[in-house]
Amino acid sequence: MDSKNYTINIAHLYPKLLNIYGDWGNVLTIKRRCEWRNINVNIDSINIGDSIDIKKYDFYFIGGGQDQQQIAVSKELQRHKASLQDARDENAVFLAICGGYQLLGHYYLPGDGDELSGISLLDVYTVAGDKRFIGNVTAECNFIHPQTLVGFENHSGLTYLQNDTLPIATVKTGNGNNGKDKTEGATYKNVFGTYLHGSFLPKNPHFADYLISLALHKRYKEKIELSVLDDTFENKAHEVLINKKY
Ligand code: GLN
Repeated sequence: MDSKNYTINIAHLYPKLLNIYGDWGNVLTIKRRCEWRNINVNIDSINIGDSIDIKKYDFYFIGGGQDQQQIAVSKELQRHKASLQDARDENAVFLAICGGYQLLGHYYLPGDGDELSGISLLDVYTVAGDKRFIGNVTAECNFIHPQTLVGFENHSGLTYLQNDTLPIATVKTGNGNNGKDKTEGATYKNVFGTYLHGSFLPKNPHFADYLISLALHKRYKEKIELSVLDDTFENKAHEVLINKKY
């Protein structure tokens, strides 16, 4: 591919508040995998009080965090609800992890305290359960190759999907969205929410490339083939987690 002139603009939403278990590594992975292919990447951190220029961004990332940090982000996101819904409808790519994922749904009801409003990019809602799900997750996803996903979950929120919102994957080990229906994550248009920390993308390079392709398609309105990278180390990390005895 001649990718010299391609660019992806990333908005990293609220990195000072939502960034646990190395969630920032997801943004770094997108950046590096693009740069290795000579695709330019610009990353803007969006903090409380900042405006969001949806004309600029192809890719939005929001990480996970504690309930306390989610309160401030929930409030702030309401100001941007309509424009981020427009961005979704214009096929911008969103990757949201855990606490960020919960806030892309309709609401998150914590164990104590008031309901936190989400921005309804995904038709899901989350209610705190009475135990925490902590541990490694393996799952199968039918729209990427290879079909396996790995990550680490730590959440008490139980997420339920509605209507056109599909899970990203089927849980093989671990709990995923709610520990009951074997679903993991949610997707609608180019929005992806998942409970997988870890960081998620360094250990799932095929999913990282899938998101890069969608972001390029959003910007350039054509399918751009990505050159193949040497993923020996990334795939080893992935396989260790797939083959671990759980
Ligand atoms: N506060 C949420 C929960 O425990 C999110 C946790 C997280 O992002 N790891 O469900």
